Amino acid sequence: MTTTRILVTGGAGFTGSHHVRTLLGPAGPGDAEITVPDNSPTPATPPASTRSAPPFRFVHGDICDTPLVAGLVAGHEQIVHFAAESHVDRSLLGAAEFITTNVLGTQTPLDAARRRPGGPARFLHVSTDEVYGSPAEGSWPESDPPRPNSPYAASKASSDLDALSYHRTHGPDVRVTRCSNNYGHHHLPEKVIPLFVTNLLDGHRVPLYGEGLNVRDRLHIDDHVQGPELVRTGGRPGEVYNIGGGTELSNKELATLLLDLAGATWDSVEHVPDRPGHDLRYPVDCTKISRELGHRPRKDFTQGLAETFAWYRDHRTWREPLKHKAVPRAGERAPRERHRAWR
Ligand code: NAD
Repeated sequence: MTTTRILVTGGAGFTGSHHVRTLLGPAGPGDAEITVPDNSPTPATPPASTRSAPPFRFVHGDICDTPLVAGLVAGHEQIVHFAAESHVDRSLLGAAEFITTNVLGTQTPLDAARRRPGGPARFLHVSTDEVYGSPAEGSWPESDPPRPNSPYAASKASSDLDALSYHRTHGPDVRVTRCSNNYGHHHLPEKVIPLFVTNLLDGHRVPLYGEGLNVRDRLHIDDHVQGPELVRTGGRPGEVYNIGGGTELSNKELATLLLDLAGATWDSVEHVPDRPGHDLRYPVDCTKISRELGHRPRKDFTQGLAETFAWYRDHRTWREPLKHKAVPRAGERAPRERHRAWR
């Protein structure tokens, strides 16, 4: 069996670490060696059940560090690129870091992939449904042009176009996925579901933007990470694949479900002014990945949400340091912007 050496950038983050677990777990390819470069001090942890798993290595470093990235890429045949600034609300407070990390931080490994001494590395760029913008109705296939609204979405759209331009201009195998909103365990408590869950578990109020009418497609993380893996192994070079088909529901509907799980009432909800430029919805058409690669979400949303709620209840020691660092509790004296935790 030939071993494939895969560089998973940003593999210490929420989606990247789940992807690493998938690659190293029983459902993984079984023939992969994984290196995770990430500027987080915390390495992704391979599951204990993978004693016979291939080697896993964590490298603490910046994705914009050209010599570091070129050195790492030289030793890998494939790159799965998750590293990014990922929090929309932070991009409203300051976009510079998003442009640096998401645009330059994509161009740097792309360039290294193209110039790799042993031949170009395959590059899977993990992007988001937010690049399409926000239609009032209908759903958008991959052929629709990007119309991003937030600085985060604009930085991701720029990196998508950069990645695709590398394929068209220079020829390396570049593939792009655009996924809807993920949820599940190990999600940073600044994002809406873990923010609401942890606030409710701790007896605090939850901040609901405007009337709570913005709609998101919520896809369980296990259903997301199957997508990039299918595209990595079976997708076509130069192609974009939407990933979604979870459960579309408004933030008000989401809040209702979480209040029920917590045994709380609407008294626990604090209505806060809406986010500037808050996109109404991101409905992606996922026919292509379903038809070509057989991707189908499996997790029932109600069950997945209950499991996620239970995980945060049972993992206080994981969440508390992150929570206190990232997001003040609703009702605390804190800058208004830091209550904005929607993605
Ligand atoms: P995350 O913030 O949990 O993970 C991002 C990771 O990138 C972190 O570990 C972070 O330390 C790392 N990183 C950031 N800047 C870096 C740098 N300069 N150098 C090296 N590493 C750096 O976010 P996430 O939700 O896991 O998102 C990961 C990717 O998936 C992003 O590209 C995002 O656009 C995409 N995505 C996420 C979702 C979702 O719902 N979470 C949906 C669609 C697409």
